[in-house]
Amino acid sequence: MRFVSTAVRAPGVSFIEAMRQGLAPDGGLYMPSNIPKLKWLGDGSLKQMPFTEIAAGMARPFLQDDLSDEAIRSIVEDAFSFPLELAEIGGDIRVLELFHGPTLAFKDFGARFMARLFAEDAAGQGEKVTILVATSGDTGSAVASGFYDVPGVDVMVLFPKGKVSPLQRKQMATLGKNITTLEIDGVFDDCQRLVKQAFSDPVLQGAMKLSSANSINIARLLPQSFYYAWAVSRLEADTEPIFVTPSGNFGNLTAGLLAHRMGLPVKHFVAATNRNDVVPRFLEGSSYSPASSVQTISNAMDVGEPSNFVRMMHLVDGDSDRLRKEINGYAFSDEETREMIEVVFHESGYLICPHTAVGVLAARADLKKKSHDHPVVVLGTAHPVKFRETVEPLTGKKVDVPQTLIKMLQKEESSLPMGREFPEFRDYLLSRTS
Ligand SMILES: *Cc1c(COP(=O)(O)O)cnc(C)c1O
Repeated sequence: MRFVSTAVRAPGVSFIEAMRQGLAPDGGLYMPSNIPKLKWLGDGSLKQMPFTEIAAGMARPFLQDDLSDEAIRSIVEDAFSFPLELAEIGGDIRVLELFHGPTLAFKDFGARFMARLFAEDAAGQGEKVTILVATSGDTGSAVASGFYDVPGVDVMVLFPKGKVSPLQRKQMATLGKNITTLEIDGVFDDCQRLVKQAFSDPVLQGAMKLSSANSINIARLLPQSFYYAWAVSRLEADTEPIFVTPSGNFGNLTAGLLAHRMGLPVKHFVAATNRNDVVPRFLEGSSYSPASSVQTISNAMDVGEPSNFVRMMHLVDGDSDRLRKEINGYAFSDEETREMIEVVFHESGYLICPHTAVGVLAARADLKKKSHDHPVVVLGTAHPVKFRETVEPLTGKKVDVPQTLIKMLQKEESSLPMGREFPEFRDYLLSRTS
């Protein structure tokens, strides 16, 4: 299978090459040149299939030119060594709990899968790779944890100063070894811009081997399509669910669109955002107009210019109306988000993080718009404990802290403060090569 750039000028490459490059040389994002149809996703065979079997089966057509079936199987078994759950929260809404991995958010799926592919690749190449990752919170911790101690790989995590939760910062900045965290004096978009500039800087390109681990990397995106299929495998037979995806950079939603095109039965998708509502507005019929990000309590979704929008357009051959038919979009304020955390807890005793709450709001809005009897599955993107300073005062309930977190909280943090201008960042990267 070949992977092509959304900007269409770069030649097609293999999956491993697309992963190494992150961004295509023409500035586009990699996508599969054609999407394989997997009959077994839609003919009832999924029923109760183990997650790792679904994952290996969906990964195979994309990776088989690069890796043996055995290698694919061992990567998914090692990467996905934690459970998924489907919780009923009443009102015909289910939450797909994607937060039982080591950093308690869905990004563990993409990061751990990609880290194992990188390790496999680095072992074959013998050259050190530096991974640059901009984060508004959860990406950084998932990537840092996923790549921790992986041989042949250095990771630089850039996060906006004062704009990630204390817990998210701890998760990134207490690891050490091959993981370095940079605290950027700016907002998330500054972090993302610095990373993009680094990739297009000829001096840096000549001095070191750079790669990305943001949701722009195809190796992060692909594994996120697997759990949509797992959710279908746990629903009643012959149903077409509606998937609601709390979104920021829209990698998670794009992965759902990919699963749908591979043959997974889906009625439609719902894009749920906070006040950073560029995509819902576009889906409502406005033109696409990226903006600066604004800060919200669902901070992992504070993105003003979602990088995966080009991929979504690529999947519909640039036809906006097709995208509008496939996805309904809704945006909510922090006030509505807080209220929904409270409502869900009072109705069902279930605790949700602010991102998942935005999803539940969108699910309810979508059900209100048009009644139907399709199951509605909201992607539960983070464990409520990660946002307990928001969740606990609203519900009056203490969130149980998992043991792994207690251990981590006792560790020393260290990150390097840095300005938002590119030359400072470039000089720092160069200083590490000498
Ligand atoms: C990253 C993240 C999101 C947004 O996912 P995208 O793929 O960027 O749209 C939502 N919720 C949480 C908890 C996240 O960490």
